[in-house]
Amino acid sequence: MPRPTVGVLALQGDVREHRRMLGDLGAYTAAVRTPDDLGRVDALVVPGGESTTMWRLARSFGLLDPLRRRIAAGMPAFGSCAGMIMLADHLEGGVAGQETVGGMDIVVRRNAFGRQVDSFEADLDFPALGSPAEPFHAVFIRAPWVEKVGTDVEVLARVPAGDTGSSSRGDAADAGRIVAVRHGSLLATSFHPELTADTRVHALFLDIVKEV
Ligand code: GLN
Repeated sequence: MPRPTVGVLALQGDVREHRRMLGDLGAYTAAVRTPDDLGRVDALVVPGGESTTMWRLARSFGLLDPLRRRIAAGMPAFGSCAGMIMLADHLEGGVAGQETVGGMDIVVRRNAFGRQVDSFEADLDFPALGSPAEPFHAVFIRAPWVEKVGTDVEVLARVPAGDTGSSSRGDAADAGRIVAVRHGSLLATSFHPELTADTRVHALFLDIVKEV
């Protein structure tokens, strides 16, 4: 594959930010709204946004099963925040009946960081981004965390101790929570690299796409 086309699921969420970042890294991108669109891409980014809305729209656009089939067939995918929820095999804290696309052997807890901590930023130790890795400045917005990982899932980053901002919630309680994972050619982050200037997570994803 000389130059893969990376689709961005464009039902809802921060589609433009992902496309800009992927484009800056030299990738071709395409918006994915229909099963036909999905058929034309080599990989997929599922953006941040609202997973309940994304799920409902994916269902009404007839995309849930085609997405499941492509992922089962090995298409690389990267989900940020709501996108991580969409890629999880198991969801805690969803609304009644909320489905995911799945593919990653993880349990994800939606809105896990609690109401007091709607948003926070933290510098993450993220060794998979290169050695010696600079910390990754991560932006979390009503973020999920990964509660449990299957045996084939690699934990890429966790919340550091005492770095979740000045919330009323004890920082110590969130330290160590898993916020970035990889399962084969699937990658997910609780935070939004597309909302910062640091392109390293997207570059990691493009490396995975090229490997596949
Ligand atoms: N809380 C949102 C959800 O449940 C995710 C937030 C985000 O993507 N920034 O989908």
